[in-house]
Amino acid sequence: MESEGRNGKKLILVPGPFQGHLTPMLQLATILKSKGFSITIAHTHFNSPDSSAHPDFTFLCIPDGLSEEEVRNPDLMGLVLRLNVNCESSFRECLTRGTNSMEPVDKICCIIYDAIMYFSEAVARDLKIPSIALHTSSAATTIVRPILLQLKAQGHIPIPDSMLQALVPLHQPLRFKDLPLSNFGSLDYFLELLVLASNIRSSSAIIFNTIHCLEESPLAELHQQYQVPIFPIGPLHKLAPTSAVSLLQDDTGCIPWLDKQTHNSVIYVSLGSIAHLDQDQLSEMAWGLANSKQPFLWVIRPGSIPGSEWIESMDEEFKECVKDRACIVKWAPQKKVLAHDSVGGFWSHCGWNSTLESIGEGVPIICQPCFGDQNVNARYLTHEWKVGLELEGEIERGTVERAVRTLMKKKEGEEMRQRVLDLKHKCDVSIVDGGSSCHYLSKLVELLRSF
Ligand code: UDP
Repeated sequence: MESEGRNGKKLILVPGPFQGHLTPMLQLATILKSKGFSITIAHTHFNSPDSSAHPDFTFLCIPDGLSEEEVRNPDLMGLVLRLNVNCESSFRECLTRGTNSMEPVDKICCIIYDAIMYFSEAVARDLKIPSIALHTSSAATTIVRPILLQLKAQGHIPIPDSMLQALVPLHQPLRFKDLPLSNFGSLDYFLELLVLASNIRSSSAIIFNTIHCLEESPLAELHQQYQVPIFPIGPLHKLAPTSAVSLLQDDTGCIPWLDKQTHNSVIYVSLGSIAHLDQDQLSEMAWGLANSKQPFLWVIRPGSIPGSEWIESMDEEFKECVKDRACIVKWAPQKKVLAHDSVGGFWSHCGWNSTLESIGEGVPIICQPCFGDQNVNARYLTHEWKVGLELEGEIERGTVERAVRTLMKKKEGEEMRQRVLDLKHKCDVSIVDGGSSCHYLSKLVELLRSF
C-alpha cells in the first residue's frame, strides 16, 4: 500500500493479548502506518508481540502486574478483567512520564484499543485524547451479545436444553445454542467482561474487521445501536498482507509438502490458538481423517492435548497409516497455507480471523466451533453464506470421514467452493478503490487526521 507522507500524526494502538486479537490490531497498525501515521503499540507484558518483526513501530510495554499463577489460570475472562484493573494506572503513567521512546501526550492524536482492553478508554478520556474501539469479532457476534444478559436476567443461563435448537427471534439464522457463550471459567466474569467491553463510553468510533457485503444486516443494526461512526474495514489481512503477527514460530516446512500435492486435494485442519482437545477427540479426528483417504495438513499446538507435550501419545498405527499423505505441524503459516493451490478445504474452529482468511482465499470450511463467537461464525458459514458444513455433537470418526469426503469430493462441497469463491471475489473488490472497505478506511483516516 502506498505511503501518504511522513507528517506522522501519532497513534497509540492497544491490542488484546491473544493471537486472535493481536493479529487484527497489528494488521490495522500496518495499514495506518502506510497512511502516514506514526505507530506505537502499547501491549501487556503477558503475550507480548515480537517487536523485531515490526521495526517501523515503537513498542511500549505496559506493566500488567500479573503473577505467574494468574497467567497459568485457564479462566481467561478473569485474566482480562484483572488486566484492565492492573493496567489502567500503569498505562496512564507510561503515557505521561515522557520517556525518550514515548511521544509527549499532547502529540498523540488518538488511542485505538481492542474493546476488551477498555482501560485504555478510561486513560484516554482522562488525558483528553480521542479514542476509537476495535472489535475483533464479527458484527453479528457483537449484536447478539446483549441477548446473553437478558437470558441471564430471566434465569435462562445455562440455556435449557429445550431452547437450544430454537431460532433467536430477529436474529436468524442463529439458534440459542449458537449464542456466543464462553466456556472459559466463571460465567459471572464472562458476563461482566461482556458488559464492560461492549460499552464504548467516550470513544469516537468503532472499527470492525469485517466486510460490508458479508454483514450488511448486523452492521445496519450496530449503526442504530451505537451513536458513533462504525467502520467495517476488512479483511484486514488482505489490506495488510505483509504484517507478521504470529506469537508462535511458523513451521514453513509444510509449504514444500503442499507443493507436492495436487490441486484442491488437501484438507487443512486447525482449531486456532486457544481451543484444546482431549485424547478421545484427538483419536476420532485422526481416524476420521485417515479413513477419508484425503491428504491433510494438521496443526496440533504443543500443549493443546492435556497430558501430552505434542503428538507423542498418538496411535502408532495411525501414524503409520497416514505417513504418505499427512503433514502434522505445531503452527502453520496459515494465510500462505489457505492461499496454496493444493488446499481445497479447511476444517476449522471458526475463529473470526480464520473465517475471514478462509473466505479471503475461497476455501470452503468444515465447521467445528468450540466456544464463544466461533458458534456464531460457524452458523453464518453454514446457513447464511452457505460455504461451510457443520460438524455437530461429539466428534466421531464416521462423521468426520463423511464430512471430509463431502467437502472435498461431492457436488455439495463443490457448490460450497463456488459460493466461497464468489465471496472471495467480493472481498477482493471491497479492498480496492471504490470498494466498501477502502471507502471506510478513507473515512477512518479522515477522522484520525481531524483529531
Ligand atoms: N494461525 C496461524 N497458524 C496456525 C493456526 C492459526 O497463523 O497454525 C493464525 C490464524 O491465521 C489466525 C489466528 O492464528 O489469524 C487465529 O485466530 P482466530 O480468530 O481464527 O482464532 P483464535 O485463535 O482466536 O481462537
